[in-house]
Amino acid sequence: KTQAEIIAVGDEVLAGEVINTNAATLSEWLLRYGIRPIRHTVVPDDPSAIADAVRRALEHSQWIVVVGGLGPTWDDVTIDGVAQALQRRIIVDERVRQRLMNRPYRHRGWEDAVARQSRVIEGAEIGFNPRGQAPGQWVTEGHQIVLLLPGPPRELEALLDAWLSSRLAKMGGTAVERLTLSLFDWGESTVAAHVRPLLAGPVPHAGIYAKPGRVDIRLQMTDDSWGRVTLERAAGWVKGTVPGQVYRLGSWSREHYLIYWLTTHHLTLAAMESLTGGSVLSRLIDVPGASQVIVGGAVTYTDHAKVAHGVNRRILEQFGAVSEACARDMARAIRETWRTDVGVATTGFAGPSGGTDHDPVGTYYVAVSTARETLALRRYMPLGRDAVRQAAVESVLSALWQ
Ligand code: ATP
Ligand code: MG
Repeated sequence: KTQAEIIAVGDEVLAGEVINTNAATLSEWLLRYGIRPIRHTVVPDDPSAIADAVRRALEHSQWIVVVGGLGPTWDDVTIDGVAQALQRRIIVDERVRQRLMNRPYRHRGWEDAVARQSRVIEGAEIGFNPRGQAPGQWVTEGHQIVLLLPGPPRELEALLDAWLSSRLAKMGGTAVERLTLSLFDWGESTVAAHVRPLLAGPVPHAGIYAKPGRVDIRLQMTDDSWGRVTLERAAGWVKGTVPGQVYRLGSWSREHYLIYWLTTHHLTLAAMESLTGGSVLSRLIDVPGASQVIVGGAVTYTDHAKVAHGVNRRILEQFGAVSEACARDMARAIRETWRTDVGVATTGFAGPSGGTDHDPVGTYYVAVSTARETLALRRYMPLGRDAVRQAAVESVLSALWQ
């Protein structure tokens, strides 16, 4: 099986000081060549720990990618660990040494550094590093392959591009097909209940991931022989099963589609935001070309500010600022005073304190107003201040679609 294990080496990664983005980069990259990562491991800068991890990985995977710890200092011991695991010698590669010797800059201790970084695993193929000293190493062990790659992300990426991508392309693996479907304004368990048969089924492999206000369903082929059709059929099945709008966003975000849609329909939009403090507009303005659509808005955090921007004082007095009536009136007021086609509004209790019996912390209202009608949504998401505010932005985007 074309499986891979990625072993990141480094005390700093293990301690949580450096996030293991290299493993993410490598996983993404391997999948493009039909190689499935089955495990990410992090080990300390210790030869026997590295050797142990490599030995274990060799029991399961055809590809073992060891990243980090190729530097010139005494704590860079990846080569020692891998040599131990493969029971190979470490030799000095004359071409690597010459290349290092030719560097103009000679700092203190450079001879030691050159000596250490000229070391390679016996029998390894060398990939010269366009952005650094430590070369990549490709070690073939029977039908298995052990790769040694440098830890600095830009060096790693340079070696993948300059050296490994063409090699792997020649080996003929086809990219592992995958796609992500997104639902907004739905709970994770509700979505899970609907797509459960798929999660239990054999292919494709499916997973559910919740983010504030959003649930992603990720589908990935489990075997190279399954074609695109099967993945498409699974996606079609999900769309037919879940009673909500299912998005297949690809590289486009939902706000991208929204701005595109509003632009093509020549509609303009303004927002009055209380709960979200400008995040709705910020999200929309992230999209290039938003100026065709977005006129502006107001952050009206207090009752006073809401009234100053045209909200009916009597509605505030009667229903309170966190109410459906207020959300509706905020959306109307901003649309009328800013003379746009669409007005949107957010109001709610983000917490940690506040709230009422009827509307506890985590309750919010969003509204979308046009000249024809006003739509309002009430949501209750007791997930903490940040999550409530993010979820409200997603709810506005959902409401805009309706
Ligand atoms: P160097 O020659 O810089 O010592 P190296 O191959 O020995 O290269 P490391 O010492 O392991 O690499 O890491 C160098 C830097 O690369 C770290 O300080 C860290 O910022 C980054 N780095 C290391 N490992 C990872 C990782 N797994 N994910 C993301 N960044 C990493
Ligand atoms: Mg290092």
